[in-house]
Amino acid sequence: LASRLQGFGTTVFAEMSALAVATGSINLGQGFPDQPGPAEVLDVARAAIGTAHDQYPPGPGQPDLRAAIAEHHRRFTGLGYDPADEVLVTAGATEALTAALIALLEPGDEVVLFEPMYDSYAAAVAMAGGVLRPVPLRPPPAAAGEVTTGAWTFDEAELRAAVTPRARLLLLNTPHNPTGKVFTRPELAVLADVAERGDLLVLTDEVYEHLVFTGSEHVSPATLPGMRDRTLVVGSGGKTFNTTGWKIGWVCGPAPLVSAVRTAKQFLTYVNGGPFQPAIAAGLRLPDDFFRRVAHDLEQHRDLLVTGLAEAGLPVISPQATYFATVDVRPLQPDGDGWAFCRSLPERAGVVAVPTEVFYAADHAPLGRHLVRFAFCKHEEVLGEAVARLRRMR
Ligand code: PMP
Ligand code: GLN
Repeated sequence: LASRLQGFGTTVFAEMSALAVATGSINLGQGFPDQPGPAEVLDVARAAIGTAHDQYPPGPGQPDLRAAIAEHHRRFTGLGYDPADEVLVTAGATEALTAALIALLEPGDEVVLFEPMYDSYAAAVAMAGGVLRPVPLRPPPAAAGEVTTGAWTFDEAELRAAVTPRARLLLLNTPHNPTGKVFTRPELAVLADVAERGDLLVLTDEVYEHLVFTGSEHVSPATLPGMRDRTLVVGSGGKTFNTTGWKIGWVCGPAPLVSAVRTAKQFLTYVNGGPFQPAIAAGLRLPDDFFRRVAHDLEQHRDLLVTGLAEAGLPVISPQATYFATVDVRPLQPDGDGWAFCRSLPERAGVVAVPTEVFYAADHAPLGRHLVRFAFCKHEEVLGEAVARLRRMR
């Protein structure tokens, strides 16, 4: 393994999903839904197989999907993007992020981002020859057996101090995996100011844009004054339409930035997902009510899991969005070792979860040592059984 990839052996998701299969446990580790997506989307994909959609789509993505991505952006954020040169279809959000970093970073350029962070970020920055400048998010205090709805916070001075003259790019994930935090407008105003003062490019990962619960509102950072011109917005159909295996993602932004990403993308995968592209276009055009229902349904699942985790004696940080809830394991794991808790959880309870520690770079890992992430994008019966098992656990 090349030196730039040392330490990125196997993703925690592969490891934990394998553990779930090997032990017959309920898998609340890797975040993927166990229900099919909407028929309006699935039917289009089925009908597209066996047609011209089986062959290479145009490099930037099928024109109709690019148009649907732009329409969807305008509907939900008010921002317009030209489907001709400001929208690029990618192999999931993962490729959009990696291609953007490869396209935009010079060796040694620094990327400012929050920890914990989605696990592909550190590897993607490393592959692009960049350097991570992580700023910690801090969890709200949570007591045993209780649920806090407080949000994770960051220290503005710590953020500003992370921006050195080598800083090139701010990588923002809202709604945020693994914390479930939705960045507020005032927080985003601080981030926009940091970007402007540091003359940073901004890369935003908004794959959970529609999975937002009562009381929170997703604000796309590109909508803040001055931000559109420096921001690449990344999205994905995977979470919204329960199609995480299809890997249809996209990136939108000013034409010169999108063109740079396209240069990288064309030599990574060239194109992807022919028959899935028209299907995601259909999904993005579903009425507002569909998107509201997705969030509303998922919120019931969040409440079921969060209540159950608290009843199992764990302090819970209830998420404002996403698929994930976070617990402090110390009442059931007195040494506060989240990794050890996750490794023993299949045997103790027949459930799999992911230690939050894996979402930190080495320096700040102790901040997440006692925290564990559980996914709730699962059928109600599955969550009910998982909760029953956790409550019996000692
Ligand atoms: N970003 C975040 C924050 C995610 O949680 C995920 C997937 N779980 C991705 C990106 C990857 O999205 P995709 O499957 O579309 O590549
Ligand atoms: N994003 C999902 C999660 O955080 C998993 C994606 C993956 O397995 N790469 O669980």
